[in-house]
Amino acid sequence: MYYNWAVNIKNMIHLLDNSAQQVDWIVMEREDCSPCNIGATLLSPIHLNNKNYNKNPIIHSTIRTWKQIKQNLKLRNLSLLIPIVNNPLFKPSIIDKSFIQWERMGIKMLGDLYELGKLLSFQQLQLKYNLKNNQYFKYLQIRDYLKKYTKDYHNMPTDLLDEAMKTKAESANLISYLYNIILNIEIPTTDGIRRDWEQELAINISKESWDNHLLQVHKCSINVRHTLIQFKTLHRLYYSKTKINKLFPNVSPICDKCLCQEATIAHSFVFCTKIQKFWNEIFDIFTKLIKIKLVPKPEWIIFGISEGNPELNVFQKNLLNYGLIMGKKAHT
Ligand SMILES: [Zn+2]
Repeated sequence: MYYNWAVNIKNMIHLLDNSAQQVDWIVMEREDCSPCNIGATLLSPIHLNNKNYNKNPIIHSTIRTWKQIKQNLKLRNLSLLIPIVNNPLFKPSIIDKSFIQWERMGIKMLGDLYELGKLLSFQQLQLKYNLKNNQYFKYLQIRDYLKKYTKDYHNMPTDLLDEAMKTKAESANLISYLYNIILNIEIPTTDGIRRDWEQELAINISKESWDNHLLQVHKCSINVRHTLIQFKTLHRLYYSKTKINKLFPNVSPICDKCLCQEATIAHSFVFCTKIQKFWNEIFDIFTKLIKIKLVPKPEWIIFGISEGNPELNVFQKNLLNYGLIMGKKAHT
């Protein structure tokens, strides 16, 4: 999924970068957005009618994936990279030539109206870009546009992806770079989840291991339902009895199987005395299959085996991970 996102963002960078080589496909996509700027169309904070891009299926799919990226990475809806001139949601920029003058003076995109995440006042913009006094009304118009599409328009700090998307389209290894940026945005949001697992499993999980576990989710199976089981486990999305108890205090947090301990996620999947026999048997089967003695480890059951076992080859790891997902499926 992250790889597809990185490819989509790379294509967007090609379309946004005016200095990029004007190859046929870029010219065609831009023409389909004419008279509006393709950047303003792609990055629009709200859904635009497909007539705005001549029903071009590539642009349609790029916009759809961008929406998915924004939602999943919890990005701000209004990108600082949105061009000001010929913006379909900012009519004055289409009918009033003053904004072309602004563009020539250096105010090309929304981010140019900000410094260190703060919206510049008209006086500050005048100083920075040499704007004349008669441009004040234009400033109010653009401020109204910002206000319309974001509540906290005064404070819009740049985010990692805003910065990454300023990269030149011709840069080498752009997809890998974007892929890592996406991971970097995603990982801080899962830091709390990593700590919760450290506490429940009573182990230290290094950032490196955690990154591996996150990557492993997308590689563990070609079956989407299996991937989802691993995703929900890793992200602690299952409703354990302790979790339900926090929402509804009249529901007991005690495990239904052993009737003696609180059913945290780790207890329900691994530690419950009533399911330990199950895991021992699973690992015995693995041991017979691959002829390497394996002792059940709680972290393997939860995260899968993505590292730290040089004696296992890729085929054996894949087999084990598949079996562990099936095992977890039996306890969901
Ligand atoms: Zn139990």
